[in-house]
Amino acid sequence: MGILSSIYDLWGLVSALVIVALVVVVAMKMEKIRQQQTALDHLKKSLEEMDEQAKLIVRTDIELNKTQEELNKKITGLFALQRLSRAISTTLEETQVFDRIEDSHLEDIGFEKGLAFLYKENDKKFYLVLKIGYTQEEIEKITSSIDWDFYLELIKQGKAISSISLSDKGRVANINKLFNVRCFVAAPILPKEGNKGILFVGIESEDTVLTEGDEEIVTILANQVGQALENVKLFEQTWQAQQELEKKVEKRTQELREALREIKLVSKRKSDFVSAVSHELRTPLTSIKGYAAILLSKKLGEIPDLIRERLEKINRHSDELVHLVNGLLDISRIESGRVSMKCEPYDLNEIINVVLDLLGVQAKEKDIQLSAQVDKQLGSVMADRQQLERVLINLVGNAVKFTPKKGKIIVKAISKNDMVQVDVSDSGIGIPPEAQASIFEEFYRVDNTINEEVKGTGLGLSLVKNIIEAHKGRIWVSSKVGHGSTFSFTLPQVPK
Ligand code: ADP
Repeated sequence: MGILSSIYDLWGLVSALVIVALVVVVAMKMEKIRQQQTALDHLKKSLEEMDEQAKLIVRTDIELNKTQEELNKKITGLFALQRLSRAISTTLEETQVFDRIEDSHLEDIGFEKGLAFLYKENDKKFYLVLKIGYTQEEIEKITSSIDWDFYLELIKQGKAISSISLSDKGRVANINKLFNVRCFVAAPILPKEGNKGILFVGIESEDTVLTEGDEEIVTILANQVGQALENVKLFEQTWQAQQELEKKVEKRTQELREALREIKLVSKRKSDFVSAVSHELRTPLTSIKGYAAILLSKKLGEIPDLIRERLEKINRHSDELVHLVNGLLDISRIESGRVSMKCEPYDLNEIINVVLDLLGVQAKEKDIQLSAQVDKQLGSVMADRQQLERVLINLVGNAVKFTPKKGKIIVKAISKNDMVQVDVSDSGIGIPPEAQASIFEEFYRVDNTINEEVKGTGLGLSLVKNIIEAHKGRIWVSSKVGHGSTFSFTLPQVPK
């Protein structure tokens, strides 16, 4: 019994141990299953996430392709736009701006149909200026039913619309129907000068889709058209202004021609008059001088001193008068062209030295230093020797006359652009600015003490000017009162 009960006990213990072992094993298995379940859940989640990402990648890829497509379309459109804008910007006529927009241009930017209207303010009407892809019949239908006010409003707002951007879908459907398109863009043409308008483009076929980029491109195109119209207007205005200016210039030239003719006539009359009067004066003057000379020669008997003195005065004054009359005659002869310059090549240096020799005595009397500086390379001048000597005698003579004692006079000659320039400079009393413009006029003499004391005719510079101009030269003066004057003139140089 004892053994049996022990066996039972042992059996019970073993069984209990087995059960415990089984429980442990089962628990362990359960734990493993649970762990595997968790791993499975993780895996499932990861798979789901991967699926999401794959879907995202596919979606992104599709979008990328779409963007690429749009970009390509935009680039093609921009290139087409560039070609188009080059075509329309090189014309200066309004109608030509639209004539140059061809079907192919529109096709290149993705549209099959196009219309443009300009609004003319003076008759408050829209005019058709561009028609692509429409028959005359269609145009008539469109222009008779179109809501012009809507497009006028678009111009006022300065904004483009399209079948995508226009929120009023009823209006979109109406426009599509009227213009016989599936989608469209309408952009205002807004030149700063001239007529404004509307550019309408549309797509009829099912294959092409309208994008927002298209609206941008059409807006740019409308701006280019506006710019071209503005250029046309500006060109027209400039052209008109130029025409008016030309007319004015023509009128003014005519008036000046008339005035010149008149001046020439007056000048000729004056020369003729001076010449006639001088001639008339010369004859009696010669007689007066002759009689005075006879009386002074005592051929007609002795004359008292008092009468002799008077006769000498008559003689002197007659000489002065003859000098004056001769001067006047010379001026009028040169002015009227009756005396022509006998021009030949001369060595200017030699002529200057002759004149300086001639006037050296007078200069010495006043202790004036008289010198010449002639460019060694000067060559010869084309001149009438006798007249040129007259010019130099007058200018250097005046310089001696109007330069106080111990002064300085220099005669310079240089070569300048095919001409020779001669400057006669003195350190004399100078000429006031207001008198400088008049000293070349006949009989003009500056009001100064020297002129009060020394006699003069006021004809010398006028004669000099006439001689220089008859040589196709120019004469001018620069002077400062109290410092001196420089008389400059030019003469044609003999080519070397
Ligand atoms: P005239 O010497 O007989 O008075 P001109 O026609 O030669 O006549 O000169 C006109 C005037 O120009 C002179 O009276 C004088 O006032 C002024 N003038 C000419 N040359 C000079 C000079 N070198 N310096 C100052 N004044 C001058």
